[in-house]
Amino acid sequence: MNCIFCKIVKKEIPSKILYEDDLVMAFEDIAPQAPIHILVIPKKHYSTVLDINENDKELIGHIFMVIKKITEQKGVDEKGFRVVMNCNSQGGQTVFHVHFHILAGRQMHWPPG
Ligand code: C5P
Repeated sequence: MNCIFCKIVKKEIPSKILYEDDLVMAFEDIAPQAPIHILVIPKKHYSTVLDINENDKELIGHIFMVIKKITEQKGVDEKGFRVVMNCNSQGGQTVFHVHFHILAGRQMHWPPG
């Protein structure tokens, strides 16, 4: 499978990794849309959020614990941040390996574009 994030997981292509365990990896987005822009991904390949099922509840909970830890480490937990997941074409998804964006370090606006 030609998935760029699977290649990042396998360290076949470089990334700035901020967190890694058996299930999850977090790395800096290569085209940051905010002063802090980090992607948190499951190491296992899921193309979209629609591929996540009942058996993955623990993994998704764990991802949110990692998100919390990263925002604390970056010192943006109290100030605030945004977590985004895009799904499929109209949702703006461009990389088809599930990922959560953490955006922080500037004022976020609503609605997003
Ligand atoms: O939600 P979406 O699929 O559009 O997000 C993909 C994200 O992956 C983009 O923010 C893009 O900059 C990032 N990316 C990356 N490293 C790559 C390829 C894409 O950080 N090698």
